[in-house]
Amino acid sequence: MSGIIEVKNLVKTYKHTQAVKGVSFEVRRGEVFGLLGPNGAGKTTTLEILEGLKPQTSGEVKVLGLDNLIQTDELKKRIGVQLQSSQYLHHLSLGELLDLFASLYGRRADRRQLLGLVGLKDKERAEVKDLSGGQKQRFTIASALVHDPQILFLDEPTTGLDPKARRDMWQLIKNINAQGMTVMLTTHYMEEAEYLCHRVAIMDRGNILEIDEPKKLVDRVADTTQISFFVEKPIDQKIFSAIPEIVKIYADYPKVILEITSLDKVSAVIKLLKDHQITFFGFTLKTASLEDVYLDLTGKEYKNE
Ligand code: ADP
Repeated sequence: MSGIIEVKNLVKTYKHTQAVKGVSFEVRRGEVFGLLGPNGAGKTTTLEILEGLKPQTSGEVKVLGLDNLIQTDELKKRIGVQLQSSQYLHHLSLGELLDLFASLYGRRADRRQLLGLVGLKDKERAEVKDLSGGQKQRFTIASALVHDPQILFLDEPTTGLDPKARRDMWQLIKNINAQGMTVMLTTHYMEEAEYLCHRVAIMDRGNILEIDEPKKLVDRVADTTQISFFVEKPIDQKIFSAIPEIVKIYADYPKVILEITSLDKVSAVIKLLKDHQITFFGFTLKTASLEDVYLDLTGKEYKNE
């Protein structure tokens, strides 16, 4: 078996909805693998089947070589699943909660180590209700790790977090992965998938459209970089012919957008503008992103909600 998770032709039909329409993929040991797609794409359903929380309608799932339908209990013991914070018992401290979760697996929790890992070392005696959103979310990760699992599953780990808490969570996931943990997550944030995942499966309406490293997906749809800036006076576009790497020019005074095929030419563009005494401002560079990939695959713009 090459994949730590192997999924073949997975289908899940709810009463009136075919939520997952025959997806196949594998997750490799040690990677961060992401299911990326808008709400309703079928990400959570797929994840919950892999976690042994619900059965599929058809198709085959092996997690750590275990069949999700037959060896469900063994599977659950060997994976970590991020729980929703609303499910925590009241009046127990974080340390006590970790002990409780560990005892469910017949283990003792290393409270200090787990809380230290998620940046909550000084919160051992605090209760979940006293934590910020970001802290709560990080605690859910500590609680998913009490039994030393081999794969960590995260369903939308940063939804609802403010930008700083989101970046902290990204760093935490990277740290955990750097220690050798395989991570499978779902997200509807393009940026998150691009930053965190070694490989991404782009999901839309129950199907996986493409699986690859984010950079390769992006390179496939666009190999140009956009430069845009504003000018004080209309300019003669002919000056740009001096740089053959400029393949497209959109000039709609006062805005100018250039597409270049080589990032190395950015300074040449700036020099050219200065040589022609052109005053410019708001100079920005934009490389293609997963949003362009999604647009290319589905023909529609990516919308989070
Ligand atoms: P995502 O995680 O990508 O937002 P979901 O897997 O939650 O997508 O949902 C996929 C589709 O399945 C949606 O149309 C959703 O309404 C439907 N769905 C999810 N769970 C259930 C359920 N328990 N019963 C009926 N339909 C469901």
